[in-house]
Order: sequence, then C-alpha cells, then structure tokens
Amino acid sequence: MPTQGGIVLSMERLNRILEIDQTNLLAVVEPNVITAELQRAVEAVGLFYPPDPASFEISSIGGNVAECAGGPRAFKYGTTKRYVLALEAVLPTGAIVETGSKTVKNVVGYDLTQLLVGSEGTLAIITRVTLRLIPKPPARATAMAMFADIQAAVDAVSALIERRVVPAAIELVDADSLRAVRDHTGQDLAPPGTGAVVIIEADGTQAAVDEDIDRVVAACRDVGAIRVTLAAGDEERERLWNLRRLISLALRATGLLKINHDVVVPRGRVPELFAVVQDLKERHRLRIASFGHAGDGNIHVNLMVNRADAAERARARQAERELFEQVVALEGSISGEHGIGFAKAPYLPIELSAEEIALMKRVKAAFDPNGILNPGKIFP
Ligand SMILES: Cc1cc2nc3c(=O)[nH]c(=O)nc-3n(C[C@H](O)[C@H](O)[C@H](O)COP(=O)(O)OP(=O)(O)OC[C@H]3O[C@@H](n4cnc5c(N)ncnc54)[C@H](O)[C@@H]3O)c2cc1C
Repeated sequence: MPTQGGIVLSMERLNRILEIDQTNLLAVVEPNVITAELQRAVEAVGLFYPPDPASFEISSIGGNVAECAGGPRAFKYGTTKRYVLALEAVLPTGAIVETGSKTVKNVVGYDLTQLLVGSEGTLAIITRVTLRLIPKPPARATAMAMFADIQAAVDAVSALIERRVVPAAIELVDADSLRAVRDHTGQDLAPPGTGAVVIIEADGTQAAVDEDIDRVVAACRDVGAIRVTLAAGDEERERLWNLRRLISLALRATGLLKINHDVVVPRGRVPELFAVVQDLKERHRLRIASFGHAGDGNIHVNLMVNRADAAERARARQAERELFEQVVALEGSISGEHGIGFAKAPYLPIELSAEEIALMKRVKAAFDPNGILNPGKIFP
C-alpha cells in the first residue's frame, strides 16, 4: 500500500517450491508460493507446515513471514516464526544477505532471521525462505459446541485449558459473526438463536485424538453447552472450517465499515477481554462482532460502523483507543497477527515505550538508511 506514492514491487513470479527435503524436514521456497499450495505439497509426502492463516488460499509465504502470520493452529503449533530457519533477503541498499541456516540450532551472532520475521516489509525484501516442517499428524477430528451466550462459550475455552487439553485449535465465534456468515453464504454454522460456538480441532495419533475429543465434549457439556456435534468425515470438517474462514469476508459483505482488530491477551484473561468488549458495546452504542483464536487469547474484534454516520464513526474511534488501552492493561498486545502497518501506527506508543520505539527506529535506519521500504508503516 504505497501511502506516500513510490514503487510497488511485485513478487508474483517468484512462486516456485525449490526443495522439499524429507531427510532434514524442511522446505525451501520463493516468497510468492501460496501458503495452501505449500501445505498440499508437503502433506503429499507425509509432512506438515502448521501455520494456517484463514487467508491461506490467497496469502503468500513471503507475506506470512513479513507479518509473522498465525491462525487457528497457532494454539498448539505456534506462529510462522517458529518455522522460519533461514532467509535470503535484499536490503534496500542493494546488498543480498543470507540469514540463518538449514539447522534447527544456530546461535551465531544476532538472530537476523527472526528480526526480519514480522518486519512488515520495512527492513528488507525477502526473496527465499527455508521453512522447518514436521511429520503430518495421522488423524484429526473437529468438534463444535454451541452455547446460549458468549460468556458460556468463554467459560468453555477456560475449562478446556484448565483441564490441560491441547487441541490443535480452539476457535470462538459470537452471534453477530454467525449471523453474518448465514446472511453471506446462506449456510449455517449453528442453528439461528445460538449465542456463540466454539470449534475445536484435535490432531495426532487416532488414540490421542479420540481421547482429546472425549475430554473436549465432557468439558463443554460441564459448562452448559446446548449441543456438541462432531464433524462426520473430512467433507463436513472442511465445510465447518470454510465457513469459519469466511467470517471476515462475511462481515465485510454487510456493507458496514469493518474496523478490524486482532488484539491478544494472555489466554487466562480472555474472559476479561470479552467483558471489556461488552462494556465498549454498551457505553459507545456500537455493534461489535468478535471471533477468533480463543485458545491463544487472540480475538478479532470488529467494530461494525455505519459509514454515513459521522457520530458513530467518532464513537468507534474512541472505542478503538480504549480497547487498545484495556488490552495492554490486561498484559496483552494490540496486534497478535496483522501487525501495525499504517492504520495502527498512531497507537504504537500505547504498547511500546519511547525507548523501545527509538531503538526500533535505529534498527530500521541500520537496514534502510534512506527510509525507502514501506515508508509510513509501523512508526507514528
Ligand atoms: C480473509 C483474511 C483472513 C486472514 N486471516 C489471517 C489469520 O488467520 N492469521 C493471520 O496471521 N493473518 C490473517 N490475515 C492477514 C494476512 O493474510 C496475513 O497477514 C498474510 O500473512 C499476508 O500475506 P500476503 O501474501 O497477503 O501479504 P501482503 O498483504 O501482500 O503483504 C503483507 C505485508 O508484507 C510485506 N511483504 C509481502 N511480501 C514480502 C516480501 N517478500 N518481502 C518483504 N516484505 C513483504 C508487504 O509489503 C506488506 O507490508 C487474513 C487476511 C485476510 C484477507
């Protein structure tokens, strides 16, 4: 997004999977390999690349690395940074650097690889990525629990974590998001009137999956689930996850202005985050749709605003600032997945101290002395 004009660099044709190394469990790819294509290619040989942003059919590995993308499976497997071993990158000065190595262990000098992960295209252009792979889990199953209201669903997430169940994903969807999916697709994730749902996916050996799903069903029933269903077969499983991935687009399709935030709090404080959101809804008279990766505390909070209503837009902007302040007070972060970019740059000082921002600016200047890469991004 060239907010100050300039040149847009297309990585479109750097789209080859260069190597899938089945002995060292890694893949070497160019940056515009589409995430889902890499996943399919490695799964075809019994390997697994876990990061799964909901955009995985359209997002690129380069974009995932630049944003340190997460996704539902981050609960068990972590985000993109856990899988990046090495990078080739072109610095704005024209120099080409190769960071990291093909080894899982490497402690030589500063970790430039991890500095570039999540740098939002402000430090260097990533031209090749070496990714760690793991063996593909042999079995998986998806359960969905329906609740009368969001509080009961949040209690279910806490119950799962307290019982030490570690599924691959724990996703939460509120009533506004369920309605948007129904209106947009004509398909239901849950019957009309459902207050919230929690989608849980378990993976591993068949025995471990069976045990996890039994514990998930018991925990959800104990906290008052109206109904718990299991996806029957891969087709039903895919249908559920496709609908879940469509929430963002479905909310956009309402025609309202969707001010999308991806705040994150320590997972034990998710109930407090939902109390904050409820308070903002009531005090600022706003429609707020929430869904996301409840297992790791990363909730997409979408302020849904009538574009034509200037007063409502102003209330939303105030609510947005309060949301960020409250999230930081809950020991969380204002962005768990999407990064700061242009839109959140003014809010950086809510989370980072002046010293931290100054240090980051010195890092930026070391890589990009002329400030030519993604100017106007990250820093206020
Ligand atoms: C429907 C939808 C669902 C999403 N769900 C998730 C989710 O679940 N989890 C999540 O984490 N994110 C999610 N996202 C956000 C987004 O998909 C991810 O951040 C993704 O990683 C971006 O990849 P991209 O290829 O689209 O990157 P782009 O949008 O093209 O680029 C993103 C940024 O990275 C920089 N960049 C891109 N390529 C390079 C490169 N080769 N070198 C240096 N800088 C580069 C760009 O300059 C830009 O600043 C979602 C987005 C959409 C639209």
